[in-house]
Amino acid sequence: MSNRIWLSSPHMGGNELKYIHEAFSNNWVAPLGPNVNGFEGDLERYLGAGCYVSALSSGTAALHLALLMLGVEAGDDVFCQSMTFAASANPIAYLGARPVFIDSEPDTWNLCPDALREALQAFAAKGRLPKAVIVVHLYGMPAKMKEITEICAEYGVPLIEDAAEALGSAYKGQKCGTFGDMAVLSFNGNKIITTSGGGALVTRNSEYKSKSIFYATQARDNAPHYEHSHIGYNYRLSNVSAGIGRGQMEVLQDRVNGRRRNHQFYTELFKDAAGITVFTEPDADFFSNHWLSVILIDEEKTGFSREDLRNSFFNMEIESRPLWKPMHMQPVFKDAAYYGGTVAEDLFRIGLCLPSGSNLQEHEKQRISETVNKKLNRN
Ligand SMILES: *Cc1c(COP(=O)(O)O)cnc(C)c1O
Repeated sequence: MSNRIWLSSPHMGGNELKYIHEAFSNNWVAPLGPNVNGFEGDLERYLGAGCYVSALSSGTAALHLALLMLGVEAGDDVFCQSMTFAASANPIAYLGARPVFIDSEPDTWNLCPDALREALQAFAAKGRLPKAVIVVHLYGMPAKMKEITEICAEYGVPLIEDAAEALGSAYKGQKCGTFGDMAVLSFNGNKIITTSGGGALVTRNSEYKSKSIFYATQARDNAPHYEHSHIGYNYRLSNVSAGIGRGQMEVLQDRVNGRRRNHQFYTELFKDAAGITVFTEPDADFFSNHWLSVILIDEEKTGFSREDLRNSFFNMEIESRPLWKPMHMQPVFKDAAYYGGTVAEDLFRIGLCLPSGSNLQEHEKQRISETVNKKLNRN
């Protein structure tokens, strides 16, 4: 355990304990309090004018409430990028709605505007547009937001940004998490900053913020006794967790820089390695936080497969992981509709995520380099 190099582990900044200590000394050890408000304020300032943030217990909970507030009900359709983590799609099922999965394009690996348009045309022709479209900025890479927001606006379908992996990323200078009608962030332990477990809903509308907090705190109506006219949830972030978040927000830029340095390290390491491509921004419009550094392996040129390399890393106690398996290939979603080609499938087959923590040490990079150099028969 002590010697293992992880894909992405928590990286504390130093002041987290100060905020937790404040919570304890004032007995704010509850799902409300000054750290919750402070953390929301930090995120609102960071994301910029017009953003309203509610701190929740997870990114998954945030997505659930986003869909709920957009009126998604049983039997509705929701479009979702196929190449993503299951948490992007599961909340669709929580509501009894049907996910329709959409392929990626090869530049950003995110939602393909052409496949999205094709699916919207097909559903419009049936007279049943989806209730929402979920786009993901996978591994921190911004999706093609200009095209995607335009298509969604054209059809009048709300757009939800799953920015769980993309806090600190930007597209054409605008921060990820600020494009959609709603966006979700995650502060799970493996994300760019963490609250040990937590998430947030970002909206452009203060009413959505209060409504999400209402749902997240058991939907209690305004009365001296407990009065309920809606089904509620227990989804609020605790004041202790939010204290970790406040400390982490102080070092967010540093964490982005650290992850981007890792990407630079891998770009150097695989330079001139025939058959290996390091996933990189397509052009200057895209700024990735490089939450995870990822490579593609063309077995015909390298002479080894993605799994060969993963096993070599594993034997050196280095964690790596295949790309997220597309949702339309998952047994649990085998009955869902799918639009697009084989971009996501092809990426999944040959892609590998590499150790990317902002706390990756020099000696760990050395072990990674040695493993790679041996594999590539460099001396
Ligand atoms: C982590 C993640 C989520 C879920 O966030 P949690 O806080 O773990 O619930 C959703 N979508 C994507 C793409 C993620 O990586």
